[in-house]
Amino acid sequence: MKNCAIVGVNWGDEGKGRMVDLLTAGFDVVVRYQGGGNAGHTVVNEKGRFALHLLPSGIFRDGVVNILGPGVALDPENLLQEIRDVGAKGVAVSPENLRISDRASLLLPWHRDLDALEEQRLADKKYGSTKQGIAPFYSDKYQKKTVLAGELRYPEELRSHLRELLEWKNLTLTRVYGAAPCTMEQLECWLRDYAEPLLPYLCDTGEFLAEAQARGKRLLFEAQLGALRDLDYGIYPYTTSSNTTAAYAPIGAGLPSLRLTEVIGVVKAYSTCVGEGPFVCELSGEAADRLREAGAEYGAKTGRPRRVGPLDLVATRYGARVQGTTSIALTKLDVLSYLEQIPVCVRYRVDGRETDRFPFPTELERAEPVLEWLEGWHCDISGARRWEDLPGAAQAYVNLIREAVGCPIDYISVGPERDSIILRTEGGV
Ligand code: GDP
Repeated sequence: MKNCAIVGVNWGDEGKGRMVDLLTAGFDVVVRYQGGGNAGHTVVNEKGRFALHLLPSGIFRDGVVNILGPGVALDPENLLQEIRDVGAKGVAVSPENLRISDRASLLLPWHRDLDALEEQRLADKKYGSTKQGIAPFYSDKYQKKTVLAGELRYPEELRSHLRELLEWKNLTLTRVYGAAPCTMEQLECWLRDYAEPLLPYLCDTGEFLAEAQARGKRLLFEAQLGALRDLDYGIYPYTTSSNTTAAYAPIGAGLPSLRLTEVIGVVKAYSTCVGEGPFVCELSGEAADRLREAGAEYGAKTGRPRRVGPLDLVATRYGARVQGTTSIALTKLDVLSYLEQIPVCVRYRVDGRETDRFPFPTELERAEPVLEWLEGWHCDISGARRWEDLPGAAQAYVNLIREAVGCPIDYISVGPERDSIILRTEGGV
């Protein structure tokens, strides 16, 4: 296992951080290649409980080098806060264990403001943004109107670049939204307090990764969110603004020639979704409250209650295909232990016709779930460590997913702790 990506198969929050934390023991380098501080991985290990947003989950392992690639939305303010937060719990972050691509673009102070202003303008048609500035950031990146982190090394040229951007961006802030303009003085403070402290971490991560590869190092690529939030393949426009798919890892990490040898797709044993957009399997009322409580389904970044529902095999099969998963890690199976019978969405009904195809986004709004019910196992499975420890009904549930998705399930997680895991070697991992 040399070049492995760990990605989300569903809407995000599948437990990727927990899987990366577990698997980093077998890797030398962990790379975040897309997204920014808009989502969070929760990791529970011997050092404590952490909510990571930008830092790769390998930060807890001694000897692992963590990388933020050129594909990430580099938010200096959030990143420094996160470095301080983990530092307060005894996890030291330094250029020894964190490298940042000098080609990563900087999320500038106005991106967060613009995100909030646009959600306010959209009112009841809002996308459900976390208001971390991600959509304005990526739009500006693709318009070539932001700044590369490496420009911090050239203060004079950087200031002249920022002045040009400022003039342009103030047109939007003041004329479109009627907001206050940003000033060069504010930008100077931001540079001094947040951006310049990142200078020691900057490097050519492509060169670093190529050398690591040449020395036989094992590389792990960590994604944020899930396949259904991918800008090109997800539930557009309720996607994120970057590519959450494994295929983007080589580009977003800085090593376009990379070939992934493994793609571990993380699937939660039931469905959750944060924010707006079609969510075919959504439960409401008491059943939803019970599942949300059982799984502690509240956003790691925002604390928002997550929308919940039964496992959606239509969306999961699609997500696994988009990700090109070579194996699946099924998480939070223990959460379903309270259910007498477990509902699973096996097909959709769209305009009166049943289908097992994941529909085009417009049709998704009209899709209804076709449910089947499986027998529950009615006992605590959080102590299970081997496949044989699982009750027959839990094995049947896992086998159903394996058959429906057509991918081996090599990891079954039964608790948030690092060792609450059943390892299977079905796919040879
Ligand atoms: P990520 O963004 O994909 O890493 O997911 P989150 O961190 O947002 O959500 C996963 C949550 O579930 C975290 O609070 C984890 O500690 C927790 N978790 C992960 N795996 C399991 C599991 O198998 N069982 C239980 N009960 N909790 C889990």
